Amino acid sequence: MAMKDEPLAGWGRLPCVFASQARPTTRADLATAWAVTGRRISRGLGRSYGDAALPSGDGFALSSLGMAKMVSFDEASGILVAESGVSLAEIIEVFLPRGWFLPVVPGTKFVTLGGAVAADIHGKNHHVDGTFGVHVVWLELLLPRGGLLRCSEGQEAPVFRATIGGMGLTGHIERVAIRLRRVPSAWCKVRTIRGRDLDHTLELLATNDGSYRHTVAWMDCVAVGDRLGRGVVMLGNEATPEELPPKDAVTPHRLPPKAKLTVPFDLPEYALGPLTVGVFNACYYGLAKDDEKLVDFEKFFFPLDTIRDWNRIYGRRGFSQFQAYFPDATARDGLHACLAAIGRSRQASFLAVLKRSGPANDFPLSFLDLGYTLALDLPGPSKTLAPLMAELDGILAAYRGKVYFAKDAFVSPALVPAMYPRLEEFRRVQRALDPSGAVRSLLSTRLKLHD
Ligand SMILES: Cc1cc2nc3c(=O)[nH]c(=O)nc-3n(C[C@H](O)[C@H](O)[C@H](O)COP(=O)(O)OP(=O)(O)OC[C@H]3O[C@@H](n4cnc5c(N)ncnc54)[C@H](O)[C@@H]3O)c2cc1C
Repeated sequence: MAMKDEPLAGWGRLPCVFASQARPTTRADLATAWAVTGRRISRGLGRSYGDAALPSGDGFALSSLGMAKMVSFDEASGILVAESGVSLAEIIEVFLPRGWFLPVVPGTKFVTLGGAVAADIHGKNHHVDGTFGVHVVWLELLLPRGGLLRCSEGQEAPVFRATIGGMGLTGHIERVAIRLRRVPSAWCKVRTIRGRDLDHTLELLATNDGSYRHTVAWMDCVAVGDRLGRGVVMLGNEATPEELPPKDAVTPHRLPPKAKLTVPFDLPEYALGPLTVGVFNACYYGLAKDDEKLVDFEKFFFPLDTIRDWNRIYGRRGFSQFQAYFPDATARDGLHACLAAIGRSRQASFLAVLKRSGPANDFPLSFLDLGYTLALDLPGPSKTLAPLMAELDGILAAYRGKVYFAKDAFVSPALVPAMYPRLEEFRRVQRALDPSGAVRSLLSTRLKLHD
């Protein structure tokens, strides 16, 4: 099996390593690549921001992209079986015109099925539908020592639960059976309301989560003083054909036209500084209207996907995403402290969202529980970001906050056991599956997830 040496990074391009990558295209190839000695970590479309899909030390990455077939679909149950390298974009392209949609989608459709399971991703509907993993019926895992294991809630449940959200550390997910959901159209009816400050924005999310399936707030992270935490709250429900204009009601599941914009090169650093972000945010907030309108799925769920390679707007310095969860009891104060620190640092970008989250599931490393999660981009380089990240660590520790492994590149390993109280349960399963420590990522060694 040929290995290719290449620069590898996550979406934030912080950090970037030079490492080998194998891209098997058949089950036999995959078994051969997996049998190569040395440390390895699975990799999908590389949309995790930090180091989750980067090999540790002189290890290699095993790409799932060469094995990306949809295997079967059962129209009665909505269960799709597919290889892990299939992207959510491909699934949507095939199934949305037939009236089916994924139960949970992240802010980009360019992630693989394997990456979605391994990070147990969440969407704007966590308070209603939970995470991606709760809709997985079974999965097939190539074990660290070799050999394929099918697992589900009824079969090898501890392995199943540790794999969902397990960041690739229990083995390579080869196939997934996922239950799709019927949707009335490819449109959402979206109500927009502006939140004056953090209390108001939180209240708008909390009071509306019973009436709307999809909720999210764009946050103005440069606003300070009594405007701190102001945001634009978007509340969406899937539209029925009757709610669409006649021209769209005839084919309610038609896909919107494909995006053609791209960022062709790395922008210079000054293109995205405190001044430009401040002007953008003031305009975005100021121009947002309190109203209700129909928005196609693409624009509502994946607004950033309309511009290919948008991560280049941060230039060569790269960027990191800070995503924190706070439980209901500490959310207001924890978020207030984070937003104040970020505002003071003048390092925020215009990409910042706040979401409400529902109760936790039964997967030990899954991220969310009842509360709120704030996610925002912070431009690099690492040395400029480190002091702010250290300050944010202190806030997380003080207010029982938690970071999302799929976004992280900075959190202190000392904080992880308190953030993830079921870490030891995960480690027991992981150690039993991988006693020789063959499966490792830069993230897992940095945060000592297996020790
Ligand atoms: C613009 C943008 C918006 C986003 N919005 C959200 C959001 O709203 N909610 C959310 O939850 N996430 C969000 N994400 C993060 C993204 O959904 C996750 O990081 C996801 O895991 C990326 O999938 P990938 O295929 O790119 O995986 P990669 O980034 O390549 O890998 C991610 C992890 O999955 C593991 N993995 C990948 N494939 C396999 C496999 N076949 N077997 C075992 N392990 C595997 C890797 O080892 C790694 O630990 C967003 C990312 C971007 C860039």
